Amino acid sequence: MSDPESSKKESIYRGIAVSPGVVRGHLYVYRPEEVAVEKRSIRDEDLAGEFARLEQAVIKTRQQLIDIPQHIGREMGNDKPGIFDAHLLVLDDPMLMEQVFKRLKSEKLNVEFIVQEVSDQYVQALSKVEDTFMRERAADMRDVGRRILRNLVGAEHDELQRLPGPRIVLAQDFSPSDTALMDRSKVLGFAAEMGSRTSHTAILARSQGIPAVVGLHEFGREIASGQEALLDGYSGLLIVNPTEQTLFEYGQIEIRWHSIEERLGQLRLEPARTRDGCVIRLGANIELEEEVKTAVEHGAQGVGLYRTEYLFLNRQTLPTEDEQFTSYSNVARAMKPHEVIIRTLDVGGDKMLVAGEHTREANPFLGWRGVRFCLDQPDMFKTQLRAILRASVEGNIKMMYPMISDLQEVKRANELLNVCREELRREGKPFSEQLEVGLMIEVPGAAMIADVLAEHTSFFSIGTNDLIQYSIAVDRGNERVAHLYAPTHPAILRLIKNVVAAARAKNIWVGVCGEMAGDPVMVPLVLGLGVTELSVSAVALPAVKYIIRNMNMADAQALAEQALRCGATGDIAIQLETFARSIAPDLMELVKPGKSKP
Ligand code: PEP
Ligand code: MG
Repeated sequence: MSDPESSKKESIYRGIAVSPGVVRGHLYVYRPEEVAVEKRSIRDEDLAGEFARLEQAVIKTRQQLIDIPQHIGREMGNDKPGIFDAHLLVLDDPMLMEQVFKRLKSEKLNVEFIVQEVSDQYVQALSKVEDTFMRERAADMRDVGRRILRNLVGAEHDELQRLPGPRIVLAQDFSPSDTALMDRSKVLGFAAEMGSRTSHTAILARSQGIPAVVGLHEFGREIASGQEALLDGYSGLLIVNPTEQTLFEYGQIEIRWHSIEERLGQLRLEPARTRDGCVIRLGANIELEEEVKTAVEHGAQGVGLYRTEYLFLNRQTLPTEDEQFTSYSNVARAMKPHEVIIRTLDVGGDKMLVAGEHTREANPFLGWRGVRFCLDQPDMFKTQLRAILRASVEGNIKMMYPMISDLQEVKRANELLNVCREELRREGKPFSEQLEVGLMIEVPGAAMIADVLAEHTSFFSIGTNDLIQYSIAVDRGNERVAHLYAPTHPAILRLIKNVVAAARAKNIWVGVCGEMAGDPVMVPLVLGLGVTELSVSAVALPAVKYIIRNMNMADAQALAEQALRCGATGDIAIQLETFARSIAPDLMELVKPGKSKP
């Protein structure tokens, strides 16, 4: 028997913080109840009627899948975001419909029962696969199957469009169509059992500035709609039935956060300049064109990393040169005169293309990804390079190659770039001859040969997310070793120092665009090591600017020297935290609450 009081007990669930902010409110538990489907035999003469019902349901589903992107487009001010192409792809899969038709004929059971069985089989088979990409296809399949079923039985789809009031919405997982249809004016925050930093929910939440925590694992049935909760998008916590004490503590945090937010807001147009006068270029990371608006609102003075792969994911065909040109130009124009650093396609790892050549690999992060993938497909790569070159006259564009591990890759990529330049000259299409081309340093081997690479680049941008996971052999997606994923590992400091030294010798600059740059505690170290450009997610930007404006570069350099002398990851972390607390105690108490917090 469950204790009635237990539902009132405070429960704390830990997950991955993917979009910052703390919200308090009532929960809305979204468990799209499995549509009740009964099993019925049908007569031969009813078969045609069942086929017709299925056809109608599929037509209706297709229309909904076409309408959803238009809805998002209106919300985000974009004509046709491509993120639902994968659903249409599932719907159009001839195998799926063939199976349904075949079983309908042979088993003579009602069509909703057959649809449910077939789609469940697909989902189960796909979700057992280890490959992240294939597992994401399971979510698409579940979403489409659910839609067809609901259309067959005439159930409602728009539960999330009619939230009873402002709510923290909780689900096992949110499909892209769920997030698209939600009434965002009523969504206080997202909490999901599944998901990662790069899942759709995370991207949309960040771009909308909605706090979100994903990867909460099973939170079970003890959580119900209407319960009170706190969602902490900084620390990755969902606190259900918070106690008076917790509410009080977070209430205090909220008050302080609002006051600091006001101060941070006032810095929007101010430069990221240290107390002793060093100006740091502070840009935003974006994944979608639409995020430029949020970036500007948060005071970004440029885009330091435009992850172009989101233009390529979840769709059946590769984006054309013109489509890419339009996206890159839009971002460049919106940011003008500030710079936009476009990263060439970085698929592979956990981001696999639907269109194109991707196949399963045993070790995808050590496999066919980033610039390697592009160099093996010169036509596809050239299409992107041409689009970037053409867009370079529309604003202040720079470009960089991801996952460089060897000089040869740089040379081959630049050769292709030169071919594109030649072609465009011949075609009389304008492009900027001055387009600067940089390299991402994400592979330890590349950091070690930074002196060699520096001869062939205009700048370095260090991708610490990958650099850390490769340097200390920690898959950051693997919970068992997540505690070992440490930006303060001495190896990381030494690699950054090595890259900066090589760059200085050639008079080029170094930036950091991994998550490390968005952590206010890490910022003084990174800058003290000699990095002069940071690119961070838009929502992290104000806090990073605040810490920069509160520090002296001379102190940050001393801090970096002290940290470089230290051999212990944990001790370095303590040194950095102590420094950050000493220069911005109010901010630190919010982003890294003291030991009293859960
Ligand atoms: C990185 O690796 O730090 C980076 C910025 O690239 P991504 O997170 O897209 O792999
Ligand atoms: Mg990377």
